[in-house]
Amino acid sequence: MSRPLIAPPALAAVVLAIACSSSPTAPTAGPTMSAFVQLTERFETAHFVLHHAPGDSVDAERCEAHLQWLSAYLGVALPAKVDYYKFREWEDYWAAVSPGTSLGMAQPGGPAVFTIQPFHAHEVVHLFTGQLGSPNSFFHEGMSNAFQNDPLAGDYEGRDHWSGLTFHDLARQARAAGTLPRLETIIDTDGFRSTPGAARPAGSFVRYLVDTQGVGRMKQTCAAVGWSDSRETVADTLLAIYGESLPELERAWLAFLDAGR
Ligand SMILES: [Zn+2]
Repeated sequence: MSRPLIAPPALAAVVLAIACSSSPTAPTAGPTMSAFVQLTERFETAHFVLHHAPGDSVDAERCEAHLQWLSAYLGVALPAKVDYYKFREWEDYWAAVSPGTSLGMAQPGGPAVFTIQPFHAHEVVHLFTGQLGSPNSFFHEGMSNAFQNDPLAGDYEGRDHWSGLTFHDLARQARAAGTLPRLETIIDTDGFRSTPGAARPAGSFVRYLVDTQGVGRMKQTCAAVGWSDSRETVADTLLAIYGESLPELERAWLAFLDAGR
């Protein structure tokens, strides 16, 4: 998550955004030009206002299918259509939205998404999580990874955009390699942000909790966990909602991962 946002001219009222940089191969070139002016093409669907450059495109059907599925699954509606700004190149995106290495941005207050992907489910999930509350990085990114799926293709698993693997499989790989972080070290924003790759186990753990304990409890979690809560406070919140300590929840999650090998 990154703040404050450098807001585009059309969205001056924005105060909060989530910048995502979970790619293991984040590009390193810097911004080279201002690009919002290139997004002259605009069309609307039921839930999106899509903006892109001439000759470029957005996969509106997949975007709509994902948003509609997620809205029904969570029982949450967004307050307005999503402005979806699709840039042609990284340089254009960085120049207009987020200099540096972020690979997508969601702006719950818009709502708006900024990306170079024609279908970017991860960022749309952030918009919904923002309707549930203002949880920390672990749960914001965990939710987005858990539900970056493709309902139009009949795929409801949370999959890594880059490898195509589920976040459960990525967590299993990390566990096999001895690099899976303990949840207590990443469950708070500071720990999460100082641990490279923390979004992957977060996605697996959030999805595990949703699938085994129900989406209602995860909605409660996103509403109750605060952005700057300490790891002790987050653990207390989880204990109150799930009736189990963080180590107990972690043991059950690890057993699930191991059973799926
Ligand atoms: Zn994200």
